[in-house]
Amino acid sequence: MTSIATLGSHCSLQVLKGAKDEGFRTVLVCEKKRERLYRRFSFIDELILVDTFNEILDQHCSSQLVEKDSIMIPHGTLISQMTSSEIESIKIPIFGNKWILRWESDRKMKEKLMIEAKLHVPKSISSPKEINGLCIAKRHGAAGGKGYFLTTSKKDYEKKRDMLISDGLIKGDSDLYLQEYAYGVSAYLQYFHSAINEQLEFFGVDRRYESDIDGLGRIPALQQMEINKIPSFNVVGNSPLVLRESLLDEVYAMGERFVTSAKELVSHGGMIGPFCLEGVYDDNGKFTSFEFSARIVAGTNLYIDGSPYSSLTYGEPMSMGKRIAKEIKDAKKKDQLQKIIT
Ligand code: AMP
Repeated sequence: MTSIATLGSHCSLQVLKGAKDEGFRTVLVCEKKRERLYRRFSFIDELILVDTFNEILDQHCSSQLVEKDSIMIPHGTLISQMTSSEIESIKIPIFGNKWILRWESDRKMKEKLMIEAKLHVPKSISSPKEINGLCIAKRHGAAGGKGYFLTTSKKDYEKKRDMLISDGLIKGDSDLYLQEYAYGVSAYLQYFHSAINEQLEFFGVDRRYESDIDGLGRIPALQQMEINKIPSFNVVGNSPLVLRESLLDEVYAMGERFVTSAKELVSHGGMIGPFCLEGVYDDNGKFTSFEFSARIVAGTNLYIDGSPYSSLTYGEPMSMGKRIAKEIKDAKKKDQLQKIIT
C-alpha cells in the first residue's frame, strides 16, 4: 500500500492530514528533538526518527521508505537543508518535479524562468557600485529572509554587509544578491498545476509576517534611528488575504504563463503540483514578482479547511495537502503515476 511521507517541519501536518483523509498511510521523517510534538497527531501512522534530515540520503532511512512504498512530498525544509544535487540524488519517488527545485534555488536560473514567463521581475543589480535608489540585498538559497537588508548606496551597503560578516551570517559580497526593491502590498499567490487534468487551479493568497521588518511600524521613527540593528526579513508566520476580483484574471494568466515556460525550460515535465508566485501589487494593481517556489509553500497552512478560492473550485473543503493526495490517488487510478513523480 502506497504511503505518503514528508519531513517533520514546514507544512508536514497539513500534508499528512490531507493524505490520511484520502486514505493513505502516513510516514513522517522526524528529528528526534521533535518527536514529542509530532506524536500528538493521530493521523501520523509512522515516525522514522533521525538526527538530521540528510539521513534520508542514507541507505538505512531510504530503505525504510522504499519498504513502505512511500512517495515523498518535498517542501521548504528539504530545499533549505539539502543541495540541489543531493535532492536530485534521492532514490525514493518525489511528488512533483525534483529537477525544477534547482531552478528555485539558483538565482540566475530562477530569473531566467520568471522572465521567460513574462512576469514583471525587479531588476537585479550586478555590483554595489550600481546601487541607485532603494535596493534589497538577499542571501542565496532558501535563507528564509534572515540577513536580508535594505540599502540605498554603496557606502551603506558596505556598512551593513560588514555587520553581517561580523555576525557570521555571510562571508562576503558573493553571498549577497542585490535587487531593486519592489514597492507595494505583498501577496503570495498559491497555485496547483495538475499534470493529470492539465489544469491550473488557483488555491489562495497569503502574506508573510517577517521579523523584524513587519514589527518596525510599532517603533516610532525617532527610536528607529537610534537603533543600530539591521532589520531582517525572517518569516515568522502567514496571514490570509483575498484579492480584488478584478485582479483574478491576471492571476490565472501569470500562473499559466509560468506553467508553459516551465514546460519549455525545465526537463522532466516542468511545473507539476503546487507552486507559488511571490511579489507585490503596486497602486495600479500591477504585480511585480521577486520569487517563486516550485513546491508547496507554508502559506497554504492557513487553508487546511479550504480557502475562499478553493471553495469556489472544489466541492469539498480542500487543503493543499489533500489536493496533493487526491492527485496521487487519481494518477494511480489512471495508471499515470509516472507523470507526477520524479
Ligand atoms: P525571498 O527570499 O526572495 O522570498 O525574500 C524574503 C522577503 O524579502 C520577501 O518575503 C519580501 O518581504 C522581501 N523581498 C524580497 N525581494 C524583494 C524585492 N525585490 N522587493 C521588495 N521586497 C522584497
